[in-house]
Amino acid sequence: MTFEGFETLAIHAGQEADAETGAVVVPIYQTSTYRQDGVGGLRGGYEYTRTGNPTRTALEECIAALEGGARGLAFASGMAAEDTLLRTIAKPGDHVIIPGDAYGGTFRLFSKVLQRWGVEWDAVAQSDVAAVRAAVRPETVAIWTETPTNPLLNISDIAALADVAHGAGALLVVDNTFASPYLQRPLALGADVVVHSTTKYLGGHSDVVGGALVAADPELGERLAFHQNTMGAVAGPFDAWLTLRGIKTLAVRMDRHCANAERIVAELVGHPAVTEVLYPGLAEHPGHKIAAEQMRGFGGMVSFRLRGGEEAALRVCDRTRVFTLAESLGGVESLIEHPGRMTHASTAGSALEVPNDLVRISVGIESADDLTADLLQALEG
Ligand SMILES: *Cc1c(COP(=O)(O)O)cnc(C)c1O
Repeated sequence: MTFEGFETLAIHAGQEADAETGAVVVPIYQTSTYRQDGVGGLRGGYEYTRTGNPTRTALEECIAALEGGARGLAFASGMAAEDTLLRTIAKPGDHVIIPGDAYGGTFRLFSKVLQRWGVEWDAVAQSDVAAVRAAVRPETVAIWTETPTNPLLNISDIAALADVAHGAGALLVVDNTFASPYLQRPLALGADVVVHSTTKYLGGHSDVVGGALVAADPELGERLAFHQNTMGAVAGPFDAWLTLRGIKTLAVRMDRHCANAERIVAELVGHPAVTEVLYPGLAEHPGHKIAAEQMRGFGGMVSFRLRGGEEAALRVCDRTRVFTLAESLGGVESLIEHPGRMTHASTAGSALEVPNDLVRISVGIESADDLTADLLQALEG
């Protein structure tokens, strides 16, 4: 039987009942190596866990199915996935275009590590497709996009950027961490590779760090798998199992994240302490139309700016009780943070610096009444 519904794939793709015991849930194959039936007699192709592990395979097949790609690969973290991808597709002298407000860790990987190895990059505001096209050089091997961006929630047009990339013989890479494959499927819009920090919505419970890549093209998938094995930053069996467990409820969690975020946004818009709410679901958001076309919902991430400046922003972060002051996002519990001092501190002094009156919230799936009451009391006085 074949099935295609997202919710069904999330629960079943890559997850046949165990052949030996009938175990409904994929077991945690906590083993580094596998007994061979005579030299080279591998069972199911498994030889050594860096190269392959059945729990990781289940996760990789599931994520590939959710993104509609040919090959999925699971890593120890989102940054490990990014590093492996970039060392697969770029060499010294090559050029990559990154978002003007890239995830802080992505910016740091380019500016502090890859640059030393001769990979060149430009940061461009990618909601402006013409600006991206103008930044393309003969050496450009990839356009790296995030949509929505972190933490400014800017939207870029994936299909339009795919055209620009392909016209230049380059790949379009989409970091789909903020949307998750439930809300947005970049490969269907023309992207070549999807990147995830599975630490966030895919895992969904703030209990595991992980990353993933999904390639549309099997040949690129094979090259990525070669580099995954060669560099070795793989997801461990237990981490892969936790992520797979989280993914089963992705669809229902995302629906609630979106609904709760919309409730909170309605309270923040027009609040006297707030000067601006950044959320792609708002009609006045510059990327609203594109987001409405390429996303099934607007997500659970919301940023807002405080009339009282940085001091007021820090005070709000300090005063919430249901929203926990912490980095990261995408878990069932609501989090609040100050990007300028926390997640995006590494961009200080650069063109990617974020405003210091900005607060970012990851809206969880608790009671919307409790969440709004908590934020409103924190904004008071
Ligand atoms: C967290 C995050 C990453 C990095 O992932 P890790 O799992 O923390 O290594 C990359 N991109 C985005 C958008 C993120 O939010």
